[in-house]
Amino acid sequence: TTTTTAAADDCCVKVAVHIRPLIGDEKLQACKDCVAVVPGKPQVQLGTHSFTFDHVYGSSGSPSSAMFEDCVSPLVEGLFQGYNATVLAYGQTGSGKTYTMGTGFKDGYQAGLIPQAMTALFNKIESLQDQTEFQLHVSFIEILKEEVRDLLDTKSEISSNGQNGKVNIPGKPPIQIRETSNGVITLAGSTECSVKTLKEMSDCLEHGSLSRATGSTNMNNQSSRSHAIFTITLEQMNKTISNDSMCDEYLCAKLHLVDLAGSERAKRTGSDGMRFKEGVHINKGLLALGNVISALGDEKKRKEGAHVPYRDSKLTRLLQDSLGGNSRTVMIACVSPADINAEETLNTLKYANRAR
Ligand code: ADP
Ligand code: MG
Repeated sequence: TTTTTAAADDCCVKVAVHIRPLIGDEKLQACKDCVAVVPGKPQVQLGTHSFTFDHVYGSSGSPSSAMFEDCVSPLVEGLFQGYNATVLAYGQTGSGKTYTMGTGFKDGYQAGLIPQAMTALFNKIESLQDQTEFQLHVSFIEILKEEVRDLLDTKSEISSNGQNGKVNIPGKPPIQIRETSNGVITLAGSTECSVKTLKEMSDCLEHGSLSRATGSTNMNNQSSRSHAIFTITLEQMNKTISNDSMCDEYLCAKLHLVDLAGSERAKRTGSDGMRFKEGVHINKGLLALGNVISALGDEKKRKEGAHVPYRDSKLTRLLQDSLGGNSRTVMIACVSPADINAEETLNTLKYANRAR
């Protein structure tokens, strides 16, 4: 048995594993459950491999209902102190990323992390409204083939050739990722929706989720080949009294909620031509993300000021000011318990283990 245990406790990246139950297709194929959880420990066993994470949910781990409180609630709280944060759902297609994030708008999506984060955010705002003025913006984009697409731009939905949502309007400049002189990352050209209510924010999430590009592969005809990034920006103006004079304190922080592209190997999807090229590009983002998070998690390297390769992909470039530094990051590795997925599940556990 190889046991891998992660090091530093005060690491800026927390990693959780979410094991979904066997689903219809897997039951029909009489799949066996091959992922075991060590009772009372956040430890997962697959064959002869054993991995320890910060949290394990589902199967015989903690109940999934605890996931929001453990993993995302502290990040929502942190926004009010001005800390940026990122939540990433990683895993092969069909492993439960969209279910976990709650962007599927199917049964039970309200138990997903994004709807719960939105509710917690509005509850907190309501409780602070007397002393603080708030402004909220959301954006929702996807990265496909290293190109950024706006999921909230209603105009781009019907393009000149009548195709739905897949083609940018001719003459509309592409969305560009920019960095200001003080290190703030901005998305030039993307829609920033100002929202005042939970309903308005939910509508943005639903609207964008529906326009997200999906394609068919052998694995799953809802297979997602793109990274979808829902970003909530919270601005606040605190009216505080110090030294008998009123002074304003301005804080701005953002929370990125990311449903990553499927992590499966291109060959598994039986892809070729176009689709294969997409696969290669997707892997570029996931590869860069793995390298960035692993560099951030390595305390020794961090202290030495080692190079963090943010510039290697659009995904890591966009998340640059919300990964590392003062920001908080949670990766939820989603896995299927079915024996037919054991190889990809092992890949996911290894990737997630490297992130800690
Ligand atoms: P992904 O986004 O990773 O491709 P999905 O979120 O679409 O995967 O999940 C694949 C299928 O499994 C869906 O039918 C979904 O409803 C189901 N599923 C995922 N996670 C769970 C869970 N924790 N409990 C019950 N069903 C789940
Ligand atoms: Mg999905």
